[in-house]
Amino acid sequence: MVEKVKIVVDDDRCYLCGGCAGMCPTLAINVGPRWEFFIDKCISCKICITACPVGALEAVPLEGEP
Ligand code: SF4
Ligand code: SF4
Repeated sequence: MVEKVKIVVDDDRCYLCGGCAGMCPTLAINVGPRWEFFIDKCISCKICITACPVGALEAVPLEGEP
């Protein structure tokens, strides 16, 4: 079973290149004037984390959260 995570961005590192959004298979990330994450669409594949060239994304386990 895939561990459910939420993806969080480090705004100091992210330069809004859109690479993560382009790689996400479920369009759970949108990069426009700011970085946005849609948790309902995310399937916790973590592709976005490896896609980011500057390591701005992190997966936070959702277990134990409401
Ligand atoms: S973990 Fe997968 S589904 Fe979730 S935002 Fe990243 S690339 Fe998209
Ligand atoms: S790939 Fe990294 S730097 Fe580019 S928009 Fe996504 S989080 Fe920001």
